[in-house]
Amino acid sequence: MGVDLTPTDVNGRAAPMEEIYCFAGNPLDRVSQRRQDTGWVASLLEDPESRMLPLHGLKPQTRHSSAVALDWQSVVPWQPLIDSGATLILLGVRDGRAYFALDATAAELPASGETAVTDARAAAAMIDGGEAAILAEARSLIDWHARHRFCAQCGTPSVAASGGWIRQCPNCKAQHYPRVDPVVIMLAVRGERCLLGRGRRRVGTRFSCLAGFMEPGETLEEAVRREISEESAIRVGRVRYLASQPWPFPSSLMIGCLAEALTDEITIDPEELGEARWFERDEVRAMVEHSRSDDPVPGVVTLPPPLAIGHQIARRWAFGIDSI
Ligand SMILES: [Zn+2]
Repeated sequence: MGVDLTPTDVNGRAAPMEEIYCFAGNPLDRVSQRRQDTGWVASLLEDPESRMLPLHGLKPQTRHSSAVALDWQSVVPWQPLIDSGATLILLGVRDGRAYFALDATAAELPASGETAVTDARAAAAMIDGGEAAILAEARSLIDWHARHRFCAQCGTPSVAASGGWIRQCPNCKAQHYPRVDPVVIMLAVRGERCLLGRGRRRVGTRFSCLAGFMEPGETLEEAVRREISEESAIRVGRVRYLASQPWPFPSSLMIGCLAEALTDEITIDPEELGEARWFERDEVRAMVEHSRSDDPVPGVVTLPPPLAIGHQIARRWAFGIDSI
């Protein structure tokens, strides 16, 4: 369609993907001041320029022509599904054109051809960065509606409003907003070595930064220290925030940090980790290369793929771009 969905960096400027983590850099204006205007949202739906992203079981439709891209469609064919009450989200506006997402799980799958229903993680690795960020927004929102159909205060079925950004209770009038679950993900560093772990359920050779959900009443720094202590018994001093990444599985915000390790002796929590150990800087550089390969060598230790912020935190430390 020739629309510009170039991702933007934290300062709102267009930037190359190396500077932006996958699912970040959403180029849309979320029009949060206007989307509560029901008449305006309805007029956008009737605008032939508007585009629709159907998700089937939270998986997007993608086009596979010269390059893989989200399969943005016109709104009209989806009107019966909208009228039936399927979850509809006003994702935002760009260059005068509105972008919507629709829970099309109840619709028939598209006939095979140039369009296909694609796993979200697989799609994110193939499509443009701006589109991946929009996919994250759409996926998290539609999942939230599917799992929050009743008022948390009184149990009455709630209804979507404000372009899909609020659920309202018709009984007690409570308004419920989409939730984001903050997760700290951090690389503990001790001199020229860093701490990486392998999840208990992840058999094999892939190691990553330690991570865990933040808890209420906790700062970022406290969550980083607590998670590292619980999972590895390493004590941590300074904590440095690096960058964050939306992670739409279903609605996390990964908060990337470096942490100054003060001790060496690792004692893993076997409920969480299968293994944790210190890695030298050059080992991590080699892991970066191996985890970029489409054809990994069996038995060689790797990191998560580049789309994960855990990969980027380890890469940037290993190559001296970030330091604690
Ligand atoms: Zn209620």
